Amino acid sequence: MIAKVEPLTQARALRGPFDYKVPDRMEAGVGSVLVVPFGRRRVLGVVVDTAEQSEVPAEKLVEPIEALEGGVPPELVRLGLWTAEEYVSTPARGLSLVLPPGTGTGARQRTRARRALRAALTAAGRDALDGGARLGAKQREALERLARGPLPAALIGHATVRRLEARGLVTIEEARVERRPEINAVGARGDVTQLTPAQAAAVERIEAAFDQTSASLLLHGVTGSGKTEVYLRAAARALGRGRSVIVLVPEIGLTPQTAARFERRFGELVAIMHSKLSAGERFDEWARLRSGEARICVGPRSAVFAPLSDVGLIVVDEEHDPSYKQEGDPRYDARRVAERRAEQAGAVLLAGSATPRPESFERLERIRLPERVDGQGLPPVEVVGMLDAPGPLHPRTRDALEAVRRAEEKAIVLLNRRGWSNFLSCQVCGRVWKCPQCDVSLVLHRAARSVTCHHCGHREHVPSSCPDCGSTSVARHGLGTERLERELEELMSPLPVIRLDADVAKVDEALRAFDAAPAGVLVGTQMVAKGHDFPDVTLGVVVDADSTLRFPDFRAEERTFALVAQLAGRSGRGSRGGKVIVQTADPSADCLRHAAAHDAEAFLGEELARRRLLSYPPFATLIRVVCSSEERGAELAVAEAIRERIDGVPVLGPAPLFRLKGRERAQLVVKAAERAPAVRTVRAAVESVAAEHARRGVNFTVDVDPQ
Ligand code: ADP
Ligand code: ZN
Ligand code: ZN
Repeated sequence: MIAKVEPLTQARALRGPFDYKVPDRMEAGVGSVLVVPFGRRRVLGVVVDTAEQSEVPAEKLVEPIEALEGGVPPELVRLGLWTAEEYVSTPARGLSLVLPPGTGTGARQRTRARRALRAALTAAGRDALDGGARLGAKQREALERLARGPLPAALIGHATVRRLEARGLVTIEEARVERRPEINAVGARGDVTQLTPAQAAAVERIEAAFDQTSASLLLHGVTGSGKTEVYLRAAARALGRGRSVIVLVPEIGLTPQTAARFERRFGELVAIMHSKLSAGERFDEWARLRSGEARICVGPRSAVFAPLSDVGLIVVDEEHDPSYKQEGDPRYDARRVAERRAEQAGAVLLAGSATPRPESFERLERIRLPERVDGQGLPPVEVVGMLDAPGPLHPRTRDALEAVRRAEEKAIVLLNRRGWSNFLSCQVCGRVWKCPQCDVSLVLHRAARSVTCHHCGHREHVPSSCPDCGSTSVARHGLGTERLERELEELMSPLPVIRLDADVAKVDEALRAFDAAPAGVLVGTQMVAKGHDFPDVTLGVVVDADSTLRFPDFRAEERTFALVAQLAGRSGRGSRGGKVIVQTADPSADCLRHAAAHDAEAFLGEELARRRLLSYPPFATLIRVVCSSEERGAELAVAEAIRERIDGVPVLGPAPLFRLKGRERAQLVVKAAERAPAVRTVRAAVESVAAEHARRGVNFTVDVDPQ
C-alpha cells in the first residue's frame, strides 16, 4: 500500500503530499501519524490519502520508519486541509490544528504521558516512619505525605522516590493518571427545571433539525434569555441520538460559567479545552475525546477541531466574539470552520448571541428568545453627550454612581483603554513619547512605573524630564482604566473598586472578588462586558463609546452596538433592576440609538443595507494582504507587485499602515463577490511574489475574513 504523507515541516514552498511504501507489518491509514525519512532528516508526517500504486518508481519509494499510536480521524484530516486551503496557509499548519496536542510542526516527540509513576508506602516504609529510622528531612516528609495515600512520583520528586524505593520503603508503579482540569465557576447558578415557552420552542426546532441533512441556526436571544439552557437541552438530545457535541465559547478564563454548567450537567462526558491547561491535561482531555469516553467538548476556537466522531451538534456561544478568529497562521475563523465541520458531519450548527453578527443574522435561520427568563425588561439606556462635560465622567454618570454608593449596590464601568493615560507630551517643546519600533505613542502604566507600547511590548521608565529640551513639565493625556480606577476609588469610597483588563494577572480572582462583594465597582476594558452572570448589578457605564465607534474599520458600528448591548445585559439582572449610561461625543450615532432602544433587528437591518451598498461581508469576502519590510519602500513596491498579479477581483491599496516592530507595512484589501476564485488568485499572486522576494526580507500575511 502507498501512503500519501504530508510532512509536518515549517517550509512554505513544499509541494506535498509525498508517497511512501507502507510495509505489511505497519498499520497506517488516513489520519495516521508516521515518522518518515525526508531528505536527510526524519520528520513527522500525516497520512492524507492512500493508494494502491504510486507514480514514483518502485526503487525510489521508501518506507516510513514508524507509525505512532493514535492519529486522528480521517474527517479531521480533511477539515485541517480545508482550513489550510481556505485561509491561505500550508497543509502542515492546517494539519497541526487537528493533531494531538504536543505534535508541533517538525516536532519529533509528542506529549504522551497518560501514564505516570505513582509511589505508595510499603509496610516497611510505615515502620520506618513510626520507628524513627534514619531518614533525611526530604525523605521523612515524602513518607509522611505518602502515609496519607499514594501520590504521583512527580509530586514528591523522582530522585527522592527512587532512593526510598531502593530502601524498600516505597513501591513505584506506572499507573494511568488523568489530569482533569478544574474550572472556576464564578457566577454559575442553579439548575433549571421548567423551560420557558420560547426556550421549549427553540429546543423543538433544534430537535427537528437533527433530522435534516444539515442545518445552521441562529439563536438570537437577549442577554439573560436562557440561551445556555437551550444549548444544554440540545446537547442532551444530540447525545440521546448517539451523537457527540462541540461547544465553542469565547474564553473560558473570562466566562467559566458556561463550561461549568456543561460539566455539572454531563459530568465525565465533558472534556474541557482551555488555554491555561498544562500540556498533560490538554493531552488527556484530547485522548478522552478521541477514545469516545468524553462525548462533549467545551472550549475556545481550537475546540472546533476536537477529535470527536459522529458530531451531531456544534454550538457557537457568543458568536459575535472576535476571539473566534485566530490571529496567527492559519488565520482561521472558527465560526466558518464550525459551519464546514457541521456540513461534513451532517450536524446542526447552533450559533447564539444577544448581538449576532450581521453575517449570521442574514445567512442563518433565526430562532428568537425575545425576553429575559426572569420576566424583567432590559434596563433603560441613557446616551449622554460629552462635548460640554467638565471631566471624564458626565454629571449624570457621577450622580448614578453616587446613588450606587449610597444604596450599596454594584456597578460595572467600561473603558476600552488600559493603562493610566494614553500619551505623554512635553509642555515646552511638544515632544511626544513614541515607540522606537512602532509609529504609536507610548502608554503610561503608573502601577508598573513604565511607559509601554501596546503593540510590541517595548518599555521605558516613566520620564521625569524631556530628553529634547530638558523641561520637567511632561503632560499626561487621555484616560485609561488605571486612572479611572483611581478616580472611582475616590468617588465610591468605601466600596471596593476592582479592575479587570489585560494588565490584571489574576482574572478569575478579580471576577470572584466582584461576585463575592456585596457592593462595589468593576472597572475595565471590554473584558467586563463578556457573558458574566452577576445577578445584582444595578448600573452599567460605557465611559467612551467613541473609542470603538471611531475605529477605522467596517465593524466599528457592529462592535459598538454589541458592547453597549452586552453591558446592558450585565445590568439589572436582579430584583433591584438597573440602568445603563453611555457617554459619547455623538449621541445621534445610529448604532447607539438602536442600542439604547434594545433594537437589534433595527440595527442589523440598517447595518446590512449599508454593507450591501459598500460590498462588505456578508455580501463580499474580504482578504487582507499585509507586506512588511525593514527597508522603507520595499513593502510598498512588493504590495504593488502583488496587486498587479491579482486577477479579476477588485483590490484596494496598497495603503500604508503604521510601522510595527521596526517594520514598514503596506496593505491590500480584496473585496470579492465570489470567495473561492478570489482566495485562489490572491494565494497565487502572493506565492509568486514571495518566491521572488524571499531574500529581500519582505514578509507577507494573508488574512481571509479579517476581524
Ligand atoms: P443567556 O445565556 O441567554 O444570557 P443564561 O442561560 O445565562 O442566559 O440564563 C440566565 C439565567 O437564567 C441563568 O441563571 C439560568 O440558570 C436562568 N434560567 C435559564 N432558563 C431558565 C428557566 N427556564 N427558568 C428559570 N431560570 C432559568
Ligand atoms: Zn521638551
Ligand atoms: Zn512598539
